[in-house]
Amino acid sequence: MNLQSIQDKHVTIIGSGFGGMGMAIQLLRHGHTNFEIIEKESDLGGTWRDNSYPGCACDVPSHLYSFSFEGRSDWSKMFPARDEIFNYITELGVKYNLYDRTRFNTEIAAATFNDSNGRWHVETTTGDRFETDILVTALGQLNRPKIPDFAGKQRFKGPIFHSARWEHQHDFDNKRIAIIGNGPSAAQFIPEIAKIADHMTVFQRSACHIVPREDKPYSSVHKFLFKYVPGFRAFYRRLIFWLLESNFLPFNELPDIPMLVKFLRLTGSIEDRIQEQFDTQVTKPELRKVLKPDYPLGCKRVVISDDYYPALMRDNVTLETSGIKEIVANGINTNDGKHHKFDIIIYGTGFESTGFLAPMTITGRNGMDLNEYWAEGAEAYLGITVPNFPNMFMLYGPNTNLGTNSIIFMMEVQIRYILGALASLGKKHAQAMEVDEGKLQEFISYVTRRLDTSVWAQGCGSWYKLENGKITNNWPDFPHQYESYVGRFDDNCYSYMPAPGHKQAAE
Ligand code: NAP
Repeated sequence: MNLQSIQDKHVTIIGSGFGGMGMAIQLLRHGHTNFEIIEKESDLGGTWRDNSYPGCACDVPSHLYSFSFEGRSDWSKMFPARDEIFNYITELGVKYNLYDRTRFNTEIAAATFNDSNGRWHVETTTGDRFETDILVTALGQLNRPKIPDFAGKQRFKGPIFHSARWEHQHDFDNKRIAIIGNGPSAAQFIPEIAKIADHMTVFQRSACHIVPREDKPYSSVHKFLFKYVPGFRAFYRRLIFWLLESNFLPFNELPDIPMLVKFLRLTGSIEDRIQEQFDTQVTKPELRKVLKPDYPLGCKRVVISDDYYPALMRDNVTLETSGIKEIVANGINTNDGKHHKFDIIIYGTGFESTGFLAPMTITGRNGMDLNEYWAEGAEAYLGITVPNFPNMFMLYGPNTNLGTNSIIFMMEVQIRYILGALASLGKKHAQAMEVDEGKLQEFISYVTRRLDTSVWAQGCGSWYKLENGKITNNWPDFPHQYESYVGRFDDNCYSYMPAPGHKQAAE
């Protein structure tokens, strides 16, 4: 990709998680140094910086949940703990000198496209202003904790915090702990807290599907092969990718090849493994009644765990299914009229996931407000570009989340696409480029059609969708199909605004 002709174009990357770092590293690898990362916190790492709760780990194998161009031979196990992943990220930050290229503790409040010079005017929450040519947003979909509006929550006298803002200073020994929520995050810290709490109550609103985790350390033989046998690590990464691809089969219809679907459909075997674990681990009849989900597998993100059910089976743990009425000074009152006394309350209640670039105010061409443009829910061409918002590219944008594979794969595909877009900008001597509305509508009608038959549309609420049922977060097909859509940048989908000194953008 030739970025030589856009050396004068300044790129601002917002966010320094996997997406922002991947973008920055690829710009550097292509010789483009005219960029800056803006980060609201004081370190790199995004979700792996923010989530430091006990038991935090990745449930996608790290040989795939890492950059393809920065593989490691020494991952300790299939699903390493958060600290190992965070170390990987910070090591890359040092290797590529990203700490010096990042403005930390700086939050963007607004970005406004200036029609007359084709540049973005950016303002921080402290009132600093600067101009940039290209905006790449890399905010993630899960960066703003969601704290439900429970009556009385400010009255609680003890520590009360969200899993993504863990307060490590508290001692859990001999304490009565409440956990609100039982999604993938809570399911990771529940077994850890259960080991040390005097008593723990888990407030479950809906049961979740629990798939066995079966984590394994890599032996020294594995590590030797990864390190010394040429191509072995890349082969292993690809193998994991295709194994995870097969997990997508139960998630959506494949309309054109129904017989093949019937032949290949793996739902049965996953459901068998789930049932087997349920039967061996959940032996208390009262738990068996309330731990069975009433929605199809995959409708909400599945939990991958071997130790969640055993934690709930402990004598010092209660699973509470009466809804929360209110939080009071010393505990929680439930809808069945009971009072539960607690010393500490922990929210495992997920994230504000459908706002995408919120709370930033983004104003595009002709004063178009992004919130207005997205009034019916966020949409972007390939999840990356939006009409009326020239030179703005999103990583992990609308309809690019996965339930079954590595999001790093998706972001690498998007980064390649953005590099292609930037190269086209230079080739055409253009100042700005904007995706055509018709291309977005074509793409959205395909996405909508495919989402309509997906498991996420079937009778459950989740962070993938709005209250009105519109699914704004998930990619509706196999991840490799996303690559086939996004893998090659097509300048026919864009219109170009000429650079100063050029009457029109080159053909
Ligand atoms: P989540 O999946 O959105 O789960 C939130 C939990 O809080 C659910 O049990 C939900 O119940 C409950 N909840 C929310 N609002 C509530 C309310 N008002 N009253 C009672 N309960 C309420 O959030 P998460 O567990 O933080 O996980 C978010 C995503 O992060 C996951 O889906 C996954 O993509 C990612 N994650 C990944 C890993 C990994 O290893 N790769 C690990 C952790 C998280 P309902 O189900 O009834 O809504």
